[in-house]
Amino acid sequence: MIGLISATAAGRAGCERLAAAWPGRTVLYDDGGARPLREVVGAAFAECDRLVLFLATGAAVRLLAPHLRGKAEDPGVVTVDEAHRYAVALLGGHGGGANSLAAAVSSVLGAEPVVTTATDAVGATALDTLPYPAEGALPAVTRALLDGTPPVAFHTDTIWPLPPLPAALVPAPPAAAKKLPPQESATRKNASPEPDQGHPGEDDSPKTAATGGNETARPGGAGRTPAQTGTANDQAHPATGGNSPEADRGHPGEDDSPKTAATGGSETARPGGAGRMPGGTGTEDEEPYAVWLTDRTVAAGNTVFLRPPSLTVGVGGSRGVTREEVVTLVRSTLAEAGLAERSVTALATVDAKAAEPGIVAAAAAFGVPLLTYPADTLAAIPVPNPSAAPLAAVGTASVAEAAALAAAPGGELVAEKRKSAMATAAVARRRPRGRLAVVGLGPGARDLVTPRAVAELRRASVLVGLDQYVDQIRDLLAPGTRVLESGLGAEEERARTAVAEARAGHAVALIGSGDAGVYAMASPALAEAADDIDVVGVPGVTAALAAAALLGAPLGHDHVSISLSDLHTPWDVIERRVRAAAEADLVVTFYNPRSRGRDWQLPKALSILAGHRAPDTPVGVVHAASRPDERVAVTTLAGLDPATVDMVTVVTVGNTASRTVAGRMVTPRGYRWQAP
Ligand code: SAH
Repeated sequence: MIGLISATAAGRAGCERLAAAWPGRTVLYDDGGARPLREVVGAAFAECDRLVLFLATGAAVRLLAPHLRGKAEDPGVVTVDEAHRYAVALLGGHGGGANSLAAAVSSVLGAEPVVTTATDAVGATALDTLPYPAEGALPAVTRALLDGTPPVAFHTDTIWPLPPLPAALVPAPPAAAKKLPPQESATRKNASPEPDQGHPGEDDSPKTAATGGNETARPGGAGRTPAQTGTANDQAHPATGGNSPEADRGHPGEDDSPKTAATGGSETARPGGAGRMPGGTGTEDEEPYAVWLTDRTVAAGNTVFLRPPSLTVGVGGSRGVTREEVVTLVRSTLAEAGLAERSVTALATVDAKAAEPGIVAAAAAFGVPLLTYPADTLAAIPVPNPSAAPLAAVGTASVAEAAALAAAPGGELVAEKRKSAMATAAVARRRPRGRLAVVGLGPGARDLVTPRAVAELRRASVLVGLDQYVDQIRDLLAPGTRVLESGLGAEEERARTAVAEARAGHAVALIGSGDAGVYAMASPALAEAADDIDVVGVPGVTAALAAAALLGAPLGHDHVSISLSDLHTPWDVIERRVRAAAEADLVVTFYNPRSRGRDWQLPKALSILAGHRAPDTPVGVVHAASRPDERVAVTTLAGLDPATVDMVTVVTVGNTASRTVAGRMVTPRGYRWQAP
C-alpha cells in the first residue's frame, strides 16, 4: 500500500489526486488533524510499503528519523512540495521503490521527479536520452531502470548514432546484425580520396605537440567514466571505419537475477533469442527486461522498443486508388515482414504518381514525406519482381520495389512487392547514417556555450577536438563518451577521425572554440565528408562578436574578419584583402593577429589601414574574451602597442566613422536619419 500524508490544503488536494489515480492502492492518512503529524507518520511508516508525504524534505526528515530501521525494511518515501513542482525520492530509492514512485507521482501531478541515488539520472532519463521513439513495456522497463533492478539489457541490430548508453542499460550482443548490409562496403565505396589540401588551422603555433594526430586518443579519459565496460554504441573502433558490430561487447547484466514477477508484459516470446539476460533460472513468467533498438517487431514482454528511422516503403497505385487501400496494404506488408511502422521514414513512388490522392494521403496518414523519383531512375534499379504493367503505364518495370530502394541509398529490400487490387508496396531498409555535429563552444565562458551545443555534446558518443577545448567542456559530456583529443596542429587528423567515426555509424561531436566554422574545424571536416552521414552545425559565439560586445558597438556597420596567419595563406593574399578592406572603409577584426614567430604582420596590416584612416581611429584590443584572464583596451591606430597583442587576442579597427564614446567603441549605423 502507498500511504498518503499531508498537512495542508494543497497537500490534501495532491493526496486526493493520487488516490483517484491509483484506486485500491493507496491509504489516505487524514484524520483532520486529530493526531499530531509525528504519530501519523509513525503509523504510516509501520503500515505501508511506500509513502508519499506532502511535506518539505526537512520536515519529512525530522518526522521520519525516529522510525528508520534499515534499507531492507524501511518503506520507500517520496516527498512533494507545496506547489507540487517536485517529487523527491527521499528514502529507499532503489529497494524501497521510491525512485519509480517519484516518477509515478510526477506523472500524475505534473511534477518533476528528483532522484539522487547512484544510478539516478541514468535511470530516470535512460529512455528519454535515446533519440528514437519508444514503444512497448514502457512502465515496467522504466520502473526497472529507476529502481536499478532487475537489470535491463540493451540490444541493437546495428550501429545507430546514439549517445553513450546510460549505466542502467547493460549492452547485450546483437541478435541480427548479420542480416544487415555489412558496414564496410559502403564505407569503402564512399571513402573520399582527397585529404591534403591546406587549410587554416585554428591556431598556427608550430606543430610541436602531438602532431600528425597520432591519437593522443584517450578513450573515455582516464578514470572519468564507467565507460570502460563498453557501451553498445561503442563497438566499432575509430578511424578504420566499419568494423563489425559484434566486436568488443560488454558483458550483460549484473549478478542480479531477474526479480519476481514481471508486471506489464504477458507474452513469453523473447526478442531475437540472442543476448538474453543471465540468471534465467526463475519461473516461466519471469521475463527479462530489455530495451531493443530495432525496426523488427518481436513479441516480447518486459521490452521497450526504440524505433530507428530505417525503413522506406515504396508504393505504386492505379489511378483512383484510395488512401485506405494504400494504408492497409502498407500495414500488412510491414506486418508480414515483421517490421515496425514507427521505423518508416518515407513513402516513395514514381514521379507520375506524385499527386495521386490516395498515395499522398497515405503518406500523410503515416506522418512521413512522400518521395518521388523519375521513371528512368527507378528503371535503372535492379529489383526481384519487375513487371510489364507499370512499364507500359509509367515507364519503369518496378515502382514499389525500385522506389523503396531509391529512397534507401545503400540499403536492401526487406519486403518484396505485395499487391492489392489497385496498389503495390515493398519495403527497403536503409543503412544507418552516422551523425556529425560540428559544435562551436563560444569564446570560453560557460554561459556563452549555447544550450544547443550542450545538447549536441550530450548526444554524442564520440567527441573529437583539440585537448584544450575538450578540457573546457569535459564535465558536460555524458558519462561514457569516447573522447578523441589531440594537440595543436592535428587539424586534418581530427577532421578525418571525426568523419570516419560518423561513417562507422556513431554520433560524433567535433568541437571548436568560438564558432567551429570560423577559421576552424568545420571546413576540413566537411571537405572530407561524403553524403553518407548526417551533418549538423551548431553556431557558436565567435571571438569577433565576443570582443565586440566588450568593446561597445564596433560592428554597427559593414565589417570583415581577416586572419593574419600566413602559415596556410600566402602573405600577399592576406595583404590584398587588408588593402581591399582599407579602401572599402570596412571595420576590420583581425584573428590570429600575432604570435611569437609572427610579429611583423600586425604592424604591416595596421599601416595599410592607416593609409586610409585617421591616426585617432579607435582600435579595440581584446585578450581572452570571456575567460578569467580577459583584458579589454580601446586605443587608436597610432597608439596601439603590438606587444599587447598575442594569439589569444582579436584586434578590431574602426572605420572612418567609428568613435570612442565614454570609453566605448561605437561605429554609427550610418543611415541618413542617424547622421553624425
Ligand atoms: N573558431 C574561433 C577562431 C579560431 S582562430 C572563433 O570563432 O572564435 C583563433 C583566433 O581566434 C585566435 O588567434 C584569436 O585571434 C581568436 N580568439 C579565439 N578565442 C578568443 C578569445 N576568447 N578572445 C580573443 N580572441 C580569441
